[in-house]
Amino acid sequence: MSYIFISDLHLDETSPDITQAFLHFIENTAVDAEKLYILGDFFEVWLGDDHDNPFNQRIMTALASLSMPKFIMHGNRDFLIGQNFCEQTGFELLPDPTRLTLFNTPVLLMHGDSLCTRDEDYMEVRAMLRNPAFQAELLGKSLEERAAIASDARSQSKQHTRESAMDIMDVTPSEVVRVMQTQNVPLLIHGHTHRPQIHDVPEVKGQRVVLGDWDANGWYLDMDQNGFSLESFPIT
Ligand code: MN
Repeated sequence: MSYIFISDLHLDETSPDITQAFLHFIENTAVDAEKLYILGDFFEVWLGDDHDNPFNQRIMTALASLSMPKFIMHGNRDFLIGQNFCEQTGFELLPDPTRLTLFNTPVLLMHGDSLCTRDEDYMEVRAMLRNPAFQAELLGKSLEERAAIASDARSQSKQHTRESAMDIMDVTPSEVVRVMQTQNVPLLIHGHTHRPQIHDVPEVKGQRVVLGDWDANGWYLDMDQNGFSLESFPIT
């Protein structure tokens, strides 16, 4: 029995290969897990739980078909996932960060964007996006208005990524150490940066696992009582 962690699938109607890979993953891999954790940016965009369309329904039906305990954390793209989504799919929404004990090891789960503290522009945007008043105002707008705002935000974000140095788009090493020390964990699991890897964090005699985004390959972390491994498989 194992726990499975995924993030950054960025599911979107315009990427049918990734959607297909995900549905296959649900039926052939995730179905055997004891627990499933999704650490943010599962959707490329989530306009709100009231955005009912065939694509969202198809994904939610697949999620609901899994009967093990399932957990989802907001990313910077799908921060409007709410209680209705959770009730329909059987997921529990996890705060970011969440500290758990898994197989007797204290583990910290994060999306990962809060660790990118050198990207000061983004940290300001993040504070706004995570503000409940801003979210309530956004959800008060029509779906068309929300779609236009989301599309604007995505093109601004893409431009920002193009114009920014590679290192500021990654986590700040000292912030990783600070968070792991504060939370007193030897293991941190996060996504967001699209740089899948297992890093040693010698300052805390621990490790940081970065989940991968789903693109040409799909990625997941598989954890059981004997340890963990970061797995990938080809999509296209
Ligand atoms: Mn992200």
